[in-house]
Amino acid sequence: MSKRKFGKGAHICKRCGRPGPVYQCYGLNLCRRCFREIASKMGFKKYS
Ligand SMILES: [Zn+2]
Repeated sequence: MSKRKFGKGAHICKRCGRPGPVYQCYGLNLCRRCFREIASKMGFKKYS
């Protein structure tokens, strides 16, 4: 019962390559952790 195909519909972090919850906003495709790092580097502030 493991349907994990990479490709269509697969969410993989562009930075660390880990599959899982990935933010696809801004076309970054980054996981939460990487997104926070990138965001802070890019000057994004915390949006809650
Ligand atoms: Zn990542």
